[in-house]
Order: sequence, then C-alpha cells, then structure tokens
Amino acid sequence: MIRTRFAPSPTGYLHIGGVRTALFSWAFAKKHGGTFVLRIEDTDLERSTPESVKAILDGMHWVGLDYDEGPFYQTHRFERYEEVIQKLLASGHAYHCYMSREELDTLRAEQEERGEKPRYDRRWRPEAGKVLPAPPADVKPVVRFKTPLDGVVAWDDAVKGRIEFANEELDDLIIARPDGSPTYNFCVVVDDWDMQITHVIRGDDHVNNTPRQINILKALNAPLPIYGHLPMILNENGQKMSKRRDAVSVVDYAERGILPEALLNYLARLGWGHGDDELFDMAQFVEWFTLEAVSPSASRFNHEKFMWLNAQHIKLADNTRLATLVAPRLAASGITLEEGPALTEVLALVKERVQDLNTLADECHYFYQKLTPTDADVEKHLSGDTPARMARFATRLAALSEWNAASIHGLFKPFCADEGIKMGQLGMPLRVLVCGTAQTPSVDAVLALIGRDEVLRRMAA
Ligand code: GLU
Repeated sequence: MIRTRFAPSPTGYLHIGGVRTALFSWAFAKKHGGTFVLRIEDTDLERSTPESVKAILDGMHWVGLDYDEGPFYQTHRFERYEEVIQKLLASGHAYHCYMSREELDTLRAEQEERGEKPRYDRRWRPEAGKVLPAPPADVKPVVRFKTPLDGVVAWDDAVKGRIEFANEELDDLIIARPDGSPTYNFCVVVDDWDMQITHVIRGDDHVNNTPRQINILKALNAPLPIYGHLPMILNENGQKMSKRRDAVSVVDYAERGILPEALLNYLARLGWGHGDDELFDMAQFVEWFTLEAVSPSASRFNHEKFMWLNAQHIKLADNTRLATLVAPRLAASGITLEEGPALTEVLALVKERVQDLNTLADECHYFYQKLTPTDADVEKHLSGDTPARMARFATRLAALSEWNAASIHGLFKPFCADEGIKMGQLGMPLRVLVCGTAQTPSVDAVLALIGRDEVLRRMAA
C-alpha cells in the first residue's frame, strides 16, 4: 500500500511551491490507490502560528487536494518522540552531550581560525576505551545521534537519481534540546516511520536532511521510504520565488481570480510533462503522473502561459459555479443582480473574453449597471447627428414584437440601409449608449440579455 504525505511547517502562507509538492504527493497516492496524509510540522514553537495552520488548511481546501488522513500535528506527538529518544539512548545510538553553549562557541572560533569547517568534535560521544568526564551538574545536556563515522549514505532518488553522502561529512545531530524537546529532523523521521510513509516526496531543499534521516531510520531498524526530491520553482527572472517579489501565497491567486484547477494544471506542468499536453484536469493528471517524468532541474514560472491556462479553465467551467465566484465580486462593486438578466447567461456570453475572474466580473458589470463612458468614446461614437439616429433606432426596438438576439439582429440591415450608414456606425454608438463601453460581445446578444425596458430606459436617459 502506497502512502505519501505533505508536511508543511506552519510558519507562513501556503505557497505555490508547497502546493506543487502536495499535488505531486497527492497524485502519486491517488494513482496507486494509496493514502495521502497531511502532517503539520509545528514543532518550531516560535515560528509556528495558528493563523498559518488555518491558511494551510484553507489553501488545501481551496485547491481541492483532499487528504485521506490527518491533519496530524507534531505538537501532539511529543510523548512519542520522547519514547523514541529513550530507545535510541538505550540502544547506544544516541548519547547525552554536556557541552555548554560557551564551549561550543569557543570550539567554533578555534576551528574557524584554523580555516576548518566548524563542527562538533564528538567529545561526549561514548566509544570503546574512551573515558568521559563526569557530567557537569550545571549543564542540561542535549541528546545527539551517533552518526556512523565512515561509509556512505546513499539512496536512489525517484526524481534525481542516485545521491550519496559520506558519513564523515555529517555531524552528530542534536535530536533533543536541553529542555528535552525534539528537533526537526528527528520528528520527521519518527513521523514518517509511524505513519508508514512509503514515498517521501518533498522539495529539494531537503536533500541535505535525507542522509541524516536515513541514518536515524536505520538505527531504529525502520524500513526506508523511497525519496523523491522535487526541484524548485523559479520566478520569470530565474530567481528563487520570494514573498516580497512574487505572488506566492495561494490566497493571492484566489484574489487575483485564478481558478484552483487552473493553478493545479499549471503547477503540474511545472517540472513535469506528458508530451505536449497543456490543458488537462486532475483526473487525467493522476492517470498520467509518474515520478520518473519529473524533471530534476528547476523550472520557471511563466505568467503568460499560466494566464492562458486560467482562461481555458474559465471557458470549461460550469456557468452556475462561475456565477457563485463572480457574484461576490460584483456585489463588492455595488452591483445587485436581482433586477438584471440571469448571471449564468451573461457569463456564457462574456467568459470567452477573459483570463481571470476579476475581469470576468468587470465584463458582467454593464449588464446590470451602465458604465460611465469615457469622454473619448462619447466624442468618437455619440457626437453629431448620432443621438438623433439612436432615438430613431430606439423606436424600432420598442416596436419589435419579439425580444431576442435574432429579432434585434433583424433590425440592423434595414436600419443601416435607411440611414445610409455602415454597421459599425450603428453598433459602436449603440454599445456606448447602452453599456457605457464599446468593448462588448455581439451587440444583439448583449441587448437581448439586458432586456427591452432597461435598454430603452438607458437609451432615453
Ligand atoms: N516541513 C517541511 C517544510 O515545510 C517539509 C518536511 C518534509 O517534507 O520532510 O519544508
């Protein structure tokens, strides 16, 4: 049984790199009929906040990545970590280290002066034949893991291929602080073990943690999961995405009028591909997804392509659902929908024209409330003898026996012929007069939806 997890630290928003990690873990579990676990890594008590936990849960809900188990919280598991620490101490895989902060600082300074990489010198590590000093009474010890002194830690990364680290390079990692609280790498190990995670799919900023985690798992006689490290997402300039510079939080995307399925579709394509396929839904993605097809190198966010995908998903989206997303946006600009046409019908007409939901809402605006035309539009389309001509056209609209796009359309040709004008000389002024903008879909369909009474009222005003 395949089991994957997404394990965010609640120290900020859910960002899109995190969503992509979650997406790939989720898809891998789904594809294999496995289980996807959500684990909140909140052991860093100073940086973790309840707001951030909420942002993560809301973000997961918004993108629609449903987890089968969890959320589990590391802060609820301290007893278990303590138990495993005692086990490692008892089996001789961990030891108490009484080196004080000051001693460690002195050692570091000396090492740096000699041009060496600063590292703990293993002075409290018990070895056969080594005599340790008596523990000082005034120092609370940390617990350190006894990293093997030689050999290599290697794994076949599902994304990056074979990766090896020499044990020599690794410190005797602190697994419990002086107050007894467990440290990050240690909790991850215990959790992955207890939660029987078979595939650890995470960002490649964790590659350096993996050898340490593998060593601890081995000391615990725990099975090793398969690791797959996903490359970073860079911004359009090839820089690491940053909160300051780039829209990284999932909330930003929701506010900018992105559909969650478009974000997932785009993130799926970042660093993973299935031939030339660009537009697909998550059911299709799950079917196609393999870790082998994930690119081992970083990929760049392409805004234009992203917005194109959002436009495609808006076109595909059900209009009733779009209405629930657009209505609050219209309400925020003071528009009431009760008097006007059905929003779903308006959406069907205008949604082809936009790339995001905010613009989509803007495009719906004039069906309910006329926009204030620009001076340039008034000058260009409504000057001279045009107002009088519009009045004559209004008379014909008023006389129509049926009100629909076809019947309105039927008036155009004869009216233009009678007036000796081209279609543009009727359509553009009509748009500006009724809608307040010249940028609308086909004017007969627009008038049909706005309704005869309202159209005539606007033309008369
Ligand atoms: N909590 C880590 C993070 O947010 C992820 C740890 C992991 O996936 O092993 O970056």
